[in-house]
Amino acid sequence: MDWQGRRQSSNVEDRRGASGGGGGKTPGILGIIVLLVGAYYGVDLSGIVGTPSLGTSVSQQSTLDPQQENQLNELARVVLADTEATWSEYFARDGRQYTPTTMVLYTGGTQTACGMGQAAMGPFYCPGDRKVYLDLSFYEDMRTKLKSASDAAFAYVIAHEVGHHIQNLLGILPKVNQMQQRASKSEANALSVKLELQADCFAGVWGHFAVGKKLFEAGDIEKAMLAAESVGDDRLQHEAQGYVVPDSFTHGSSADRMKWLQTGLQSGDINQCNTFR
Ligand SMILES: [Zn+2]
Repeated sequence: MDWQGRRQSSNVEDRRGASGGGGGKTPGILGIIVLLVGAYYGVDLSGIVGTPSLGTSVSQQSTLDPQQENQLNELARVVLADTEATWSEYFARDGRQYTPTTMVLYTGGTQTACGMGQAAMGPFYCPGDRKVYLDLSFYEDMRTKLKSASDAAFAYVIAHEVGHHIQNLLGILPKVNQMQQRASKSEANALSVKLELQADCFAGVWGHFAVGKKLFEAGDIEKAMLAAESVGDDRLQHEAQGYVVPDSFTHGSSADRMKWLQTGLQSGDINQCNTFR
């Protein structure tokens, strides 16, 4: 990726090093309800929560060396800035205005409108406050647990979360969340898969334009695809428990995630991203 020296987004809230929100204070009953609701409505990259091989405890947090952390901090801001440019242009073509998301950088845990955000959950988007939450040490998880770390893979992760923001702005996220409330567990999971695959497709649409701007270079598409493959439910389940239960999928198989990312990359058109059809 040719990202160095490009514009960095100012829509970033840097909470790194802060004592993970709620620290010292007990959340109380309201906090617990919010946490439970949040666990349901926040949308993440990989459903990493509860996947044993990927770590469920914040205490086993990965660490970054300061130089690497600086690089990732810059990369994240450049990618966010580029999503803002791309989606603003995209929305403007339809006569709409794009309202950017805010990216919250944090370490360990932090308070969100969806409850307590924890690094062990991996990056996620909270529709309630329209923010993307990212602990930069997720890069280490990608390297050690998902074996798909690269700047292009990290960019895909951010673009996927911004994809959920696009779904929120288009009214898709609230509508699907409402449908999920009335659905059975397996139907709700199936809807969740469709949402996640669409976020992958939207990430691909961003990637399509990133290629045009030479932000993505030769080989970067392959790296992003590899990342999408590495967070497929079947692959994560297989690694965690040795077998695969498709009904319990919440994010989609590796093949489907790659397919939808590819669809967005090739078309650059969100109308090709109807995973609900
Ligand atoms: Zn997601």
